[in-house]
Amino acid sequence: MNQEQLAHARHTLAHLLAQAVKDQYPSAKLTLGPAVDNGFYYDIDFGNDKVSDENLKDLQKSMRKNLSKWTAFTHREVSPEEARTVFAGNEYKLELIEEIAGRGEKITLYTCGGFEDLCRGGHSENPSQEISADAFKLDHVAGAYWRGDEKNKMLTRIYGLAFSTKEELDAYITQQEEAKKRDHRKLGKELGLFVFSELVGPGLPLWTPRGTLIREALNDYVWSLRKDRGYEKVTIPHITKKELYETSGHWAKYADDLFKIHTREDHLYAMKPMNCPHHTQIFDSELRSYRDMPQRYAETTMVYRDEQSGELSGLSRVLSITQDDAHVFCREIQIEQEALAIWDIIETFYNTFGFKLQVRFSRHDPATPEKYLGGADVWKKAEDALQKLMESRNVTWIDGIGEAAFYGPKIDFISRDSIGRVLQVATIQLDFNQPKNFKLTCINEKGEKEQVVMIHAAIMGSIERFMSTLIEHLAGNFPVWLSPTQVVIVPIKDVHEEYANKVYAMLKAKNIRVKLDDGKDSMGKRIREAKNMKTPYVIVIGDKERDANVLTVETRAEKIENISPEEFVARLEKEIEERTLN
Ligand SMILES: [Zn+2]
Ligand SMILES: [Zn+2]
Repeated sequence: MNQEQLAHARHTLAHLLAQAVKDQYPSAKLTLGPAVDNGFYYDIDFGNDKVSDENLKDLQKSMRKNLSKWTAFTHREVSPEEARTVFAGNEYKLELIEEIAGRGEKITLYTCGGFEDLCRGGHSENPSQEISADAFKLDHVAGAYWRGDEKNKMLTRIYGLAFSTKEELDAYITQQEEAKKRDHRKLGKELGLFVFSELVGPGLPLWTPRGTLIREALNDYVWSLRKDRGYEKVTIPHITKKELYETSGHWAKYADDLFKIHTREDHLYAMKPMNCPHHTQIFDSELRSYRDMPQRYAETTMVYRDEQSGELSGLSRVLSITQDDAHVFCREIQIEQEALAIWDIIETFYNTFGFKLQVRFSRHDPATPEKYLGGADVWKKAEDALQKLMESRNVTWIDGIGEAAFYGPKIDFISRDSIGRVLQVATIQLDFNQPKNFKLTCINEKGEKEQVVMIHAAIMGSIERFMSTLIEHLAGNFPVWLSPTQVVIVPIKDVHEEYANKVYAMLKAKNIRVKLDDGKDSMGKRIREAKNMKTPYVIVIGDKERDANVLTVETRAEKIENISPEEFVARLEKEIEERTLN
């Protein structure tokens, strides 16, 4: 099945579900049933009937039974009057009918297996042949407001999973189970990395000392890669006058997503949702000669976006986002050299965690020019430059038409995490539009003003989102260089404490993040606790170790015996230095 056929099959299954629902719950009111990227759902008003996960088995059985009778869809166009008669008593369908009629569109009813529904099409041609009965499964029930609006009635949403084959369905289910175990919200709490407070509010994570340590280690790593390539740090305030975003074009585009501040003098300010407009003002504060170009500004800082609270989730959707941001202001002739340097940083950084990168060329969609800043000529120039870049890098890329940012095209880097989920991990964005809006220029060799180009070059993008990805990718097993506690020492009895203290002092002196657990709990419990916190190295000290001046070290995978403290430190230092991945 290709993607389109699969989408058709998923939507067809929503119809099949609707039939099963109507057979078992004749008074249920059907509303909408689209395909989604792992299957389908249908939103239903069950009235006084209670439907929960336990009822899905029966519905699924009836779908499988009916599928064999679903051999072809027929459809008919009806007048609004006729449609109202067919769906009399179902206020949801009536609302949809009024909307379709209001737009002057045709109203169509599709029938298959004797079941008719309001629909605009997009089905399998012969469901009984194309859809395999064991490649779909009703998954779970959830509440959903009619049309996603919390002022409306809460409906029951039945989710189904559907794939081309049973194997794909099974693989997806296994992946989901694994994902549940690795959920960053669960692990973040267990490992003590970040918290949320009801007083502070949803979507505003607070980072504990352990979590902050990881964030800073990641950020230092990115900075070490940038420093070598001529970047300089800058610092900007987190608020700005509205005028900055009117000039940049963000106000017109994103006014709803901005946190706004009214000052006592009645001025309107906003919390920054991105850093580029501020950075342009540092560039523009001096007359720049071609000899000063490029200017490369880096800054890790928070931005704020006013998202709907229903969309907030763990670290993946938050209101306060930390960006490891950078902007390169350069001449057109410098685009290639600068973008390639960013590409190198991205590759080095992501390879460190075992992410293999794939490239997507995110272009604008010429069919919807109103979605973008700037004219066709500017877009052509920017897209040609990126294409040349990818060609010089000799990569094959996925064509992402319509995936550009509103101010410019991008090279997006796509990867898969350790359980096979697809992620967009980094991006190089080329921007001719903001330099134009802000009139950013340099004086070229001929003494003329030349418009500069901006390259947006965050590496992690959002540190929050990157952390959520990394926690799940590694299942919380951070490599030694990122582990908040790198070593825990467990002396078996009091008599072993002297030697344990000696080893502790030695590791501490080498800047190893080490803890000595000489608590009153049993040895087994102390070791378990260290392992639950995913500590990479646990040293157990007893008579044997003390007498021979050696260590017994438990890693996440093995037990190392009779290693001298010096040898162990050397091994640790090497792993930290090389950022070894477990
Ligand atoms: Zn349909
Ligand atoms: Zn930017």
